[in-house]
Amino acid sequence: MAKRIFNFSAGPSTLPLDVLKKVQAEFLDYHGTGMSLIEMSHRSKEFDEVNNNTMNSLRELMGLSDKYKILFVGGGASSQFAMIPMNFLSKGKTAAYVDTGAWAGKAYKEAKAFGSVHLAGSSKDGGHTFVPKTADIDFPSDAAYLHMTSNNTIFGTQFQEYPDTGSVPLICDMSSDILSRQLDFNKFSVIYAGAQKNLGPAGVTIVIVHEDMLVKCNDGIPTMFDYRTHANKDSLYNTPPVFAIYIVGLVAEWIKEQGGLAAIEKMNVAKKERIYQMIDLNPDYYKGTVQDESRSWMNLTFRLPSEDLEKKFIAEASAAGFSGLKGHRSVGGVRASIYNAMTLEGVEKLVEFMESFKKAN
Ligand SMILES: *Cc1c(COP(=O)(O)O)cnc(C)c1O
Repeated sequence: MAKRIFNFSAGPSTLPLDVLKKVQAEFLDYHGTGMSLIEMSHRSKEFDEVNNNTMNSLRELMGLSDKYKILFVGGGASSQFAMIPMNFLSKGKTAAYVDTGAWAGKAYKEAKAFGSVHLAGSSKDGGHTFVPKTADIDFPSDAAYLHMTSNNTIFGTQFQEYPDTGSVPLICDMSSDILSRQLDFNKFSVIYAGAQKNLGPAGVTIVIVHEDMLVKCNDGIPTMFDYRTHANKDSLYNTPPVFAIYIVGLVAEWIKEQGGLAAIEKMNVAKKERIYQMIDLNPDYYKGTVQDESRSWMNLTFRLPSEDLEKKFIAEASAAGFSGLKGHRSVGGVRASIYNAMTLEGVEKLVEFMESFKKAN
């Protein structure tokens, strides 16, 4: 049995061991075909089944109505920063953006090439240590859409609720917290997420788009960047990232086996509370970097009394079998990313390590 460490990387990130084992077992001979799934046509009946099962599992877990199309595309969540305005914004129209961190800021910047952009809320002046209250998010009533980022992976903040946007479509980048808890996903017009944080390996981006949006897509955009191309062909217009879609399907199955989003949420609450309790009980040593009510359940950021101690903490943690704890290079400090696949055991071991590190240093 391979030695597995506790991987707190922000992305790509740890995946459920049962899923990895299943991939390994099926890798050389997929379901008796004598081929690996990655060696067969994306038009084969085997892949068709994988594609459909993955869509169905996601639809079931999220409780999505049949008014939504689920697309699997390449290019990462970063390509969606451009595809969203390319499809839904045009000259003479305004799109509203909430700037709550590095990724949100990139999405905002990208939209400016396509039409006018309204800043509906920002945490920039506070160093992105909080997310705006939903009541303070303001946008024109005729905005083409309102774009939000549910969880700010780098800064460690997360929205706990979403504004009621009335007739303005709500679009959300959920790359780092999709399927981490229960949520009324039907209130969003478009949801997108790179798979490599909470859903699977890098290479596929999940885009969930309401059919009311598909009729609003701008004309004249290149085929591959038009959502209708992928929606009309169940993501099979060209070769989709087959291997990544397959693993996303297995991860979705795994979530169902855990008891669905209700059970996943319960586990994620237990996990984040262990670490935040440790921080709150030792405020002079472990300093949380964000305001309490904006704390992320997925990326938990904190500082130690000095940068030297942070370096030592990360180095000793790594030697003790906890990897990926270094904060993003733009902010420093420590970041523990505890996505769905991180076990409670991993979190408890990390908290024990934090306790003993503090005693020794
Ligand atoms: C990681 C991340 C991205 C970028 O994803 P890529 O797939 O690397 O383009 C975008 N948004 C959020 C919230 C992220 O966490």
